[in-house]
Amino acid sequence: MTTDANVADASVHPRRLFFALWPAPVLAEELTRDGAQWLAQAHARPIRPENIHLTLAFLGVVHGERVECFRQAATQVTTPAFTLVLDHAECFRRAGILWVGPSALPALLLALVQQLNAALRACGYQPERRDYRAHISLARQVRRCPRLPVPVPRAWEVREFVLVESHLEPGGARYEILERWPLTAQ
Ligand code: ATP
Ligand code: MG
Repeated sequence: MTTDANVADASVHPRRLFFALWPAPVLAEELTRDGAQWLAQAHARPIRPENIHLTLAFLGVVHGERVECFRQAATQVTTPAFTLVLDHAECFRRAGILWVGPSALPALLLALVQQLNAALRACGYQPERRDYRAHISLARQVRRCPRLPVPVPRAWEVREFVLVESHLEPGGARYEILERWPLTAQ
């Protein structure tokens, strides 16, 4: 039953949100297999294919009334679709993360992140000060990073970005795509 109280509660309910690029399942499976192969015997916790993503902007815990502002901000992005070539593998050693990404950041991906950050600022969002590093985490708790090959390049035709809710559950994070915005080809 939906009561007025429930509706009011839903609008203020805090949510852990981020903007991301989400690969098609086939690509996510390929990346997962690449990661598993490189890690082989290494102690690590692989990320499940359905959780594979590239974060554009991490919003953190957001209260209901600000979600609408963030959604409006997303509509201001005007960057076109682009190809993201994943041809580089690396570990963030201190964080214990194995990731893949582009060896060179595509100008259109940087433009997308910058446009999004600029629009999100109007909602009180403070973009990261560090340079943006496009990375797709494949495994966590990597104790010793193995020697990594130059990956078989995977080409990702990026045609949309998404707003995601992260549900932190005992078995690990579960992600729910809340909304999608197309990047129109030019
Ligand atoms: P868990 O926290 O359970 O290990 P997770 O890190 O995948 O799982 P979240 O913490 O909800 O889940 O993060 C969602 C996404 O946002 C991930 O890609 C994560 O790397 C990124 N992220 C999380 N915190 C930050 C942060 N402070 N700055 C930038 N990106 C972040
Ligand atoms: Mg986290």
